[in-house]
Amino acid sequence: MRPRPTSGTPRRTLQSPLYPPAYLPLYLPLYLPLAGLLAACAGPAPKGARGAGADSGAPEASEPTRSTLPDVMDIDRLLAHLDALDALSAASARSRVLGSAAFDQSADYVQGALEGAGYSVQRVPFTHGVWSETGPGVLAVGGLSDLAAGVDYQNFGRSPPGRATGQLLPVDIQLPPPGGTNSTDSGCQARDWDDFEPGALALLQRGGCSFSEKLAMAEAAGAAGVILFNEGQADRRGLVEGQLDDVLAHSVPVLDATTAVAEALLERMAVGPLTVTIEAQVAVERFPTVNLLADLPGQTADLVVIGAHLDSVAAGPGINDNGSGTATVLELALQAAALRAAGEPDPRDTLRFAFWGAEEEGLIGSFAYVRGLDELALAAHVANLNFDMLASPNGLRAVYDGDGDARLGGAEAPAGSAVLEALFTDHFEARDLDWSPTAFDGRSDYGPFILAGVPAGGLFSGAEVDKSAHEALIYGGAAGEPLDACYHRACDGVENIDPVLLLEMAEAAAAATAGAADLAPFVADRARSAPPRHHDLPYVGGCDGARPAR
Ligand SMILES: [Zn+2]
Repeated sequence: MRPRPTSGTPRRTLQSPLYPPAYLPLYLPLYLPLAGLLAACAGPAPKGARGAGADSGAPEASEPTRSTLPDVMDIDRLLAHLDALDALSAASARSRVLGSAAFDQSADYVQGALEGAGYSVQRVPFTHGVWSETGPGVLAVGGLSDLAAGVDYQNFGRSPPGRATGQLLPVDIQLPPPGGTNSTDSGCQARDWDDFEPGALALLQRGGCSFSEKLAMAEAAGAAGVILFNEGQADRRGLVEGQLDDVLAHSVPVLDATTAVAEALLERMAVGPLTVTIEAQVAVERFPTVNLLADLPGQTADLVVIGAHLDSVAAGPGINDNGSGTATVLELALQAAALRAAGEPDPRDTLRFAFWGAEEEGLIGSFAYVRGLDELALAAHVANLNFDMLASPNGLRAVYDGDGDARLGGAEAPAGSAVLEALFTDHFEARDLDWSPTAFDGRSDYGPFILAGVPAGGLFSGAEVDKSAHEALIYGGAAGEPLDACYHRACDGVENIDPVLLLEMAEAAAAATAGAADLAPFVADRARSAPPRHHDLPYVGGCDGARPAR
């Protein structure tokens, strides 16, 4: 039983006659066309978009009588989207995980609703590689028979599969290292490879540049395989435990080795050419998937990206995580278009509504999007607003700490993020609603934007962390209980939603979207040139991309 009837009382418990659970599968064929229906009821098509939505003739869900975006957020429409996503998850064992039919149907549902409202939807494909180990790895060196897999060497994290035999050649190695961490830079410069023999195997030392950069240089030099060992300082002699950025970006097998193994190999090479065999015993499954993008043009081509991830984990349908964000961003798109068509003037910026794929696999879709931007395109990105989990049943109203004044740790947000934070907090305060700051801990799709210097903001209602006594005083609910006890579980279905909180968050999202649409680019952080990498994010791995626990 929900703690307080006013908040968290699921509309569903009133057992709306429309939804007797037993007959749900009967409604499934209804859901996909429902997308277009809901879109059509959102009002006439946006200016500049293709063709008006199909005339559904169904009862109008809501005609925007009030003229601002926050006021046209409608809980029944939000919940209808959640019902549809939950029902679609039935196609794939109640999950909308990457690669599942239910994910594809969720994308069809969202695309159908947007196109029904006149948007032209970009369905941007990308492929995610899921990496797994099939064995401990092989390192065979004549005369060095006591090397143990998992102790002296192992598969390098996210190494491509493969076996290679050939002469081992050292590449700009400095042992002992001249100083502390990253005081060496083996294989980082082109000149390091001047004497390298294509077809040979490269012995590389950790330090100076990323593992992925080293491997790319080795591949360019024609290396058949790589042994990458730890840098050699007192606290960096064990297995590297590192991982590559993108398993799909490489083709040459890599082994991870201790400094002691490298010292033994170098001793052997000092007396003559050394032939070694390595094998990375791993498998890579390729999952083609998509991001969905839909633009509502403004006076300029500068972009405010309003995003939510569309996928769930394998364990459950992901209705709070992240059907709630998906439904909110979809309604923002539908209602913003309806208001625009009803005569609302174009704001300064173009609104880009984004539905990310493969977030649960490591922000893969949003990374693919940001990495695909050249410097000019990046400079046109004014802001990113992210909505991931907005209806936690024991939740709270958290706003990402754009100005960092809450000192919660996490990533430092680019200048301009403070303005975005204020758009949310001003809205809550104007409605006399408490809010709490939350850190940019790198656990959602704002991450790649922040790394690329794009100001970011957003909302979050809580996941696995327990509600504190203080938060329970402010928000109600149960202290000492998770904010969302069904986080990443099978029970994250339509029953796992607080509709009162969802509407409050959706209205705040609408206020921030409307406010951000007139912002001009903040130029301060645009100097950053290097494309963002996973392991620059605090949560996803920290410095050098620490290998995920096995
Ligand atoms: Zn999520």
